[in-house]
Amino acid sequence: MRLFRFMSVLLALSAVGWSQTSTSAKPAAGFSIDTIDKSVDPCVDFYQYACGNWIKNSEIPADQSQWVSFVELHERNLDIEHGILEKAEAGGPGRNAIDQKIGDLYGSCMDEKAVDAKGIRALKPELDRIDAIKDKQALIDEIAHIHMTGPSPLFSFYSSSDMHNADQVIAYIDQGGLTLPDRDYYLKDTGKNKDVRQALVDYVSQVFALAATGQSAKDSGAADTVLRIETELAKAEMDRTARRDPKNRDHKMTREEAVALGPNFYLDRYFQDVNAPAFKDLNVTNPDFFKQINGVLESESLDSLKTYVRWQVLHASAPWLSQPYVDANFKFQQALTGQKEIQARWKRCANLVDRELGEALGQRYVEAVFPPESKARMLKMVGELEKSLGEDIQNLSWMSDETKKQAAVKLAAIHNKIGYPDVWRDYSSVDIKLGDLLGDVQRANLFESKREINKIDKPLDRKEWGMTPPTVNAYYSSSFNEIVFPAGILQPPFFDPKMDDAVNFGGIGLVIGHELTHGFDDQGRKFDPQGNFHDWWTKQDGEEFEKRVSCVADEYSNFVAVDDLKLNGRLTLGENTADNGGARIALMALEHVIADDKSGKESQKIDGYTPQQRFFLGFGRVWCEKRRPEVARMRVLTDPHSPGKYRVDGVVQNMPEFEKAWSCKAGQPMVAENACHVW
Ligand SMILES: [Zn+2]
Repeated sequence: MRLFRFMSVLLALSAVGWSQTSTSAKPAAGFSIDTIDKSVDPCVDFYQYACGNWIKNSEIPADQSQWVSFVELHERNLDIEHGILEKAEAGGPGRNAIDQKIGDLYGSCMDEKAVDAKGIRALKPELDRIDAIKDKQALIDEIAHIHMTGPSPLFSFYSSSDMHNADQVIAYIDQGGLTLPDRDYYLKDTGKNKDVRQALVDYVSQVFALAATGQSAKDSGAADTVLRIETELAKAEMDRTARRDPKNRDHKMTREEAVALGPNFYLDRYFQDVNAPAFKDLNVTNPDFFKQINGVLESESLDSLKTYVRWQVLHASAPWLSQPYVDANFKFQQALTGQKEIQARWKRCANLVDRELGEALGQRYVEAVFPPESKARMLKMVGELEKSLGEDIQNLSWMSDETKKQAAVKLAAIHNKIGYPDVWRDYSSVDIKLGDLLGDVQRANLFESKREINKIDKPLDRKEWGMTPPTVNAYYSSSFNEIVFPAGILQPPFFDPKMDDAVNFGGIGLVIGHELTHGFDDQGRKFDPQGNFHDWWTKQDGEEFEKRVSCVADEYSNFVAVDDLKLNGRLTLGENTADNGGARIALMALEHVIADDKSGKESQKIDGYTPQQRFFLGFGRVWCEKRRPEVARMRVLTDPHSPGKYRVDGVVQNMPEFEKAWSCKAGQPMVAENACHVW
């Protein structure tokens, strides 16, 4: 169970693979005009101009599936975490509670000898429990137990804001239970999907052969069973594009109604098993999933269902088992991402501590890297960006005064969180035992599941964070109506105190503008200032908005991501709208700073470039990127963000401001004939 669904993040990072081994913290590369390829005309392909030399001089490290500033920064943060964790591990009995937990979880993870010596025995209690199941009701009891400790077979259960009363947290049940990252891998034979399915079949067969203990030894044809059941789950899933529309996820009903949707789920038992409070209502995000899978639970034999559940547990545990399981899991990840080598163990372990005890490790991280001045400067920039978006909205020609008034109210209500939480999560009840890696992971997950379930039917805790402090990312949450910037992203090339304002407005300024715009994209605009799913637009303004975002959807649907695979303009619509709006209001904010500067310093050229040109160069630098073809294909299916090239070129060709800054002419590729303009 993991927190914070339905938030709009700045980018999606795959769960696997960061960069090559390094031993000491080095500053991440900041902005430099050395990345520019001056042989390219910026009006023909601005991304290639801004990033050409960077692309020429960069290699994707062997243990990466992509190389981009976010990953470079994540590498640097990992180095810092590495130092913190080694110190905490070595600390001995004098350590405080935080260092004991993060140090011992890291120590358990680094002790490969102990992990290898235990082998599959680490998972034996869980596998024995599955073997002992005698009927389908007991199977649901077991799924409840498994959900609490991390793996998520069959469906998911969590808590989140009530869509119509954001101040209140309610229970949710949702589709789930797939091994592959998207339903299309199971259902479509296009591209390399068949190869990926074959990789899954190989992975299942290999792991079952390795784990051939007890009943699992009899799982001949296990891979076929897993693929068959997961394909049925995939068929019943709502696709990602449909899920972006909040009305498709809005199905609040009574507990009895939910139970009746799929009697074979025995949800009443399940809710008791996980110790949920006696709630009366819940949201069923995709009711059709439960109706459809009810039949699958009927027609599949108990043995087949046990095989599927056993698989889900093995797969989720594989990275924390002995070497052969780690290798099998990595080989499968390779088929999805193209990554050549597995990352060093210390990196996997630091990432694990960030995932499981992120606000404990985060406390130490913040002490090490995040000075209070950074927070003050960010707050000032956020204020400048909010002012620009306010002006932008007031000046829109297509929106009525009535809707403008409502939009201003929503903008004024957006909260911001910068750096790290005011209140740190208390992990004192998590039992971390040195030398018991899988047990540690299960107990940390159990803590998180209980925490999530305990929130049901209580007021929303608006102080809570959905990302850990070292995360190189940012998000907007519509139910919280807030923008959030973890300390991890407040560094070069996004935010560099040594750089001119122009470069910083093109970097972190644009990120702030992007997150603010999410409050007004095709999803965000449907939520009111309090975070409720509620239409505050006049009918005509709503139609005007839809017309304008259709322009953006059509524009990006024509971009080719890899081979002949084009982007899904509807899946990426919210992010593309936010990129376009974010760029426009960040540049507006920079123009204000230039206009207010009496000294004339802000309008001076640096390295031969005007501030406006440096703004666009700073923006381009952030998205310089290389991806392996496998991961590029995966992202087209799963990622609501466009690849770096289109995050840059797709935006600038809609901006008359860009045309002016670079003296481009009508008819050139970076000057769109029918430029899209929403915000
Ligand atoms: Zn975003």
